[in-house]
Amino acid sequence: MEGQKMRSSNKRIVILGAGYAGIFLATNIGRYFKGKEGEVILVDRNPYHQLLQEIHLVAAGFRTANEVKIPILRLIDGMNIKFIQSTIKQIRPDKNLVVLESTEIKYDVLIICLGASTKYFNIKGAKENSLPLRSISDASLIYDRVGALIKLNNKQNIVIVGGGATGVSLGGALSDFIKDSKKTDSISITIIEALPTILSGWDERLVKKVNEVLHKKGIRIMTRSPVTKVENCGSSVYLSDDDATKIQSSLTIWTAGVKGYDIQIDPEVEKTKDGKIIVNEFCQIDRYPNIFSIGDIAAV
Ligand SMILES: Cc1cc2nc3c(=O)[nH]c(=O)nc-3n(C[C@H](O)[C@H](O)[C@H](O)COP(=O)(O)OP(=O)(O)OC[C@H]3O[C@@H](n4cnc5c(N)ncnc54)[C@H](O)[C@@H]3O)c2cc1C
Repeated sequence: MEGQKMRSSNKRIVILGAGYAGIFLATNIGRYFKGKEGEVILVDRNPYHQLLQEIHLVAAGFRTANEVKIPILRLIDGMNIKFIQSTIKQIRPDKNLVVLESTEIKYDVLIICLGASTKYFNIKGAKENSLPLRSISDASLIYDRVGALIKLNNKQNIVIVGGGATGVSLGGALSDFIKDSKKTDSISITIIEALPTILSGWDERLVKKVNEVLHKKGIRIMTRSPVTKVENCGSSVYLSDDDATKIQSSLTIWTAGVKGYDIQIDPEVEKTKDGKIIVNEFCQIDRYPNIFSIGDIAAV
């Protein structure tokens, strides 16, 4: 399919989100635009880019929050890019307008790179009674909560729901944290996975190795165990309505699902059932050829 052509007078490019997709795009466009006409605006709610692949280490105290933040202004230094720190509230494709908490901006070309958020599959109590791990502040909260458990002397169980890459790396890191705190006798970790294996879809040899490493660390892994209900933090995770399937949990961390970040777009655009914006092979929204979307929020 031919990409739909845009007007040649396009002048202002607005990039929403300074995560991996947004920063990569902005810095490449910024280099291209150096000394040329046109304006590139990058918007993010944070003044820093988050090194998301390291936040499990923040949750376990092996990195500080500051060590996994890179100031956005440093990343775009010397480039023809204007940065606005603000929360994006709404996109109005019919008016070429983005509504921010602080102001409104018009665009000629818009690229939506707002990432993903946690998916709870409508499981009762999951959102209310667990902590997610999708940002540095989530990681800091987990660190505080695990730190509080470490100060207690009675038996505690940390339940991680979701045996994907995030849950598995978090489990490993928390186990090291607990070991360093000499609390392995009182604090246990359980990873619960609905599918027949952790790291589903990964190379079988790697999955076997990871299973061995986690078992060695004393982590209990429960596969084929879809969670049906989560009670108050500091209480229980259920695998069915039957009380016999109740797993005690002092702290439940939810890493089981991901969906596209839920940004309000009015009029609505087509999305997948996971809330991802559907784009064509040019990462363009068919109905609005001057709007593109890339990264975790987009689905080709
Ligand atoms: C714990 C963890 C570990 C991971 N480890 C790996 C790994 O090892 N390897 C790998 O390939 N991938 C890893 N990933 C996945 C990887 O981080 C994502 O695929 C990647 O971040 C997607 O980039 P993105 O730009 O689409 O979204 P993000 O990087 O999430 O960026 C989205 C940006 O949008 C901003 N934003 C969102 N909503 C708003 C709003 N309303 N207003 C203003 N700003 C907003 C956010 O602040 C953020 O800066 C990991 C993810 C997590 C959570």
